[in-house]
Amino acid sequence: MKIAVLPGDGIGTEIVEQAVRVLKALDLKFEMEQALVGGVAYDAHGHPLPESTLKLAKEADAVLFGAVGDWKYDKLERQFRPEQAILGLRKNLGLFANFRPAICYEQLTHASSLKPELVAGLDILIIRELTGDIYFGQPRGKRTSPDGNFPGAEEAFDTMRYTRPEIERIARVAFEAARKRSKRVTSVDKANVLETFQFWKDVVTEVHKDYPDVELDHMYVDNAAMQLVKAPKKFDVVVTGNMFGDILSDEAAMLTGSIGMLPSASLNASKQGLYEPSHGSAPDIAGKGVANPLATILSAAMMLRYSLDQEEAAQRIENAVKKVLAQGLRTPDIHSEGTTKVGTREMGDAVLKALG
Ligand code: NAD
Repeated sequence: MKIAVLPGDGIGTEIVEQAVRVLKALDLKFEMEQALVGGVAYDAHGHPLPESTLKLAKEADAVLFGAVGDWKYDKLERQFRPEQAILGLRKNLGLFANFRPAICYEQLTHASSLKPELVAGLDILIIRELTGDIYFGQPRGKRTSPDGNFPGAEEAFDTMRYTRPEIERIARVAFEAARKRSKRVTSVDKANVLETFQFWKDVVTEVHKDYPDVELDHMYVDNAAMQLVKAPKKFDVVVTGNMFGDILSDEAAMLTGSIGMLPSASLNASKQGLYEPSHGSAPDIAGKGVANPLATILSAAMMLRYSLDQEEAAQRIENAVKKVLAQGLRTPDIHSEGTTKVGTREMGDAVLKALG
């Protein structure tokens, strides 16, 4: 087994270091190889996703990714911006299914922006389609507006589109995932306004015929955004398109208190995956040793589960994280009165110790 380790920019290096320490402590047989990605790769090689990094990622069974981006690269042409590395990896590895769990740990319910009773025990899995939709649809660009409200004016445009196979495969992933949970899927769309999402709804409904044991309901994205803050526990598996999933998964992340706690996985059809925390490179706290490494450590656990078939090791890590939280150790983002504030490395030390 081979893991490509791509720490990236900002806090990426600090948090990935802790996850790598935890993986090494498991005493499993795998090889880890590190490479540059994002802004640091642009500085060194003139591209955020150099050929050598992409080659390593393609050859590996899984990629452990930190985060990319820094405001200092904001003026670069879009193709050279650090964030393009993630899009490039998703596209090249065919990572079409993004798993974003939103779990509210018992000890952290107070950190949520919602009342504790609304989030206590929350455990949602948002499955976002990752390689289609308006983020990749062609044509896109800038031009002189041919029609619309201001013909002749300068305009920018993108194209929202989904093919049947793209919707079918993500729907299957969602129904399969639901079978391992509470057998409920909510498909989120905007079928009342968008052709693309009427088609989405129709195809999901068709695929559902193969999963009669799973309950399916449909919800418009605006309602889903409301329900997520009104009664989040009524969701279990949520499946949706790339753009809606991008927004809803961040909204769900906030229900759990800190984005520093949330792992994510992006998988292709052969279980090869990219595992990364749900947050970005946090340039505001980079280098200070205060970033929460738990989302990355939990991403490593997801990697063991979904790409490397090491369920037991995955649970060992997840239990160690629960133990550390129960001990009252907190990085500043999740710190509250009565708990002990620790830095990134100390949190890594504590997880290592709790692995037993
Ligand atoms: P961000 O997620 O980096 O930070 C948002 C806020 O959350 C900041 O206040 C930050 O300090 C805090 N935060 C994030 N992770 C944390 C952690 N582990 N521990 C404690 N606090 C944490 O989002 P942003 O500020 O909008 O973006 C910063 C950069 O990251 C930008 O360049 C953006 O493009 C990039 N970005 C990258 C990814 C990725 O690599 N997958 C995702 C989102 C944003």
